[in-house]
Amino acid sequence: MSDIRQDVVAGFEEAYGSAPSGIWSAPGRVNLIGEHTDYNLGFVLPFAINRRTIVALGPRDDGRIGVASAYADEVAEIAIADLAPDRLRGWAAYPLGVAWALGQHGADLAAVPGVNLFIESTVPVGAGLSSSAAIESAVALALNDVWQLGFDRPTLAKVGQLAENKAVGAPTGIMDQSAALLGREDHAVFLDCRSLESHLVRLGFAEAGLEVLVIDTGVKHSHATGGYASRRASCEAGAKALEVASLRDLTVDDLPRARTLLDDETFRRVRHVVTENQRVLDTVDRLRTNGPLAIGELLDASHISMRDDFEISVPELDLAVETAQANGAIGARMTGGGFGGAAIALVPSDGISRIQVAIDGAFAEHGFGQPTMFTVTASNGAARD
Ligand code: ADP
Ligand code: MG
Repeated sequence: MSDIRQDVVAGFEEAYGSAPSGIWSAPGRVNLIGEHTDYNLGFVLPFAINRRTIVALGPRDDGRIGVASAYADEVAEIAIADLAPDRLRGWAAYPLGVAWALGQHGADLAAVPGVNLFIESTVPVGAGLSSSAAIESAVALALNDVWQLGFDRPTLAKVGQLAENKAVGAPTGIMDQSAALLGREDHAVFLDCRSLESHLVRLGFAEAGLEVLVIDTGVKHSHATGGYASRRASCEAGAKALEVASLRDLTVDDLPRARTLLDDETFRRVRHVVTENQRVLDTVDRLRTNGPLAIGELLDASHISMRDDFEISVPELDLAVETAQANGAIGARMTGGGFGGAAIALVPSDGISRIQVAIDGAFAEHGFGQPTMFTVTASNGAARD
């Protein structure tokens, strides 16, 4: 058993005084390209990473659900019959929100036995690698198994999203849970966020001598507040003014008309989403026909669009991206919702250390806190371990 699995078993035993009956896990994700396109019903191309959230689960016979985490001190618990979004607080709203959301999707929560959960993770929290979807997806798969609910993975992704939207109160899209549940080694998940149809697209990074370097700036973001919600509102306003159901219904050919109808800020928000959707399609095309060495300029263009049009970057992310690009990266961009978190760079394996040294030096020179850097590989989605 790996260290983290031993830790989660030990943590479960300490919290509940008995051994768990099973272990499930789900990965964090990196979004290769397609940012803020998910809630606009467009395209995204995330991949599951080799950092996972592990859930140990055991039965209890009092109809209650207990959750504990290495991340927090207290054990939270509630009667399954009392699960409701307004009764859930703090980090426990993620796992308990999933239990509630399973009921919203048709599970008969009056008929399921009580359970205890203990959660441990190697996905950094708040870094834009979606520790939130990792915890939701691991819990959703675990409860789906032990409660014998029979939901398929796309439905479990919706369950996680519902928990995050209603129990946590973060208006996020379906991308992260889809990556955590549908990911596959050496593949990205190409997801149409309108139809929810997904295809695995081979990345071939290792074969091309490439690695993905994550640069976690350490700048904390929060989805439940501020910028994320206001960007969403701008997108809705843009779609309404242009009389389309969502920005998905626009292409780059619609942009001249959009410019005449929208104020400058809303236009730039719309232009980001429309061009980003096209970049996702182009990235998938190039991966399939030319391979990963051909996608760098699309990653670079995505970053510029987020920096200038969607205005969700921060100086630390810009510096990480520019320094990577100047030191041999094939392409680089911020990833995740923005306002902090991480950037990714697609880097030749033999150039990783040079880029890391350059980024460390640039951050020190600008007086920024030291970033955390590590490589990730495209990995399998949620599983019973
Ligand atoms: P991100 O998804 O980018 O990591 P979010 O703000 O969306 O950041 O989600 C982070 C939140 O998810 C944490 O603040 C915490 O409430 C919850 N969370 C994530 N991982 C764990 C964990 N292992 N144990 C407990 N709570 C967690
Ligand atoms: Mg999140």
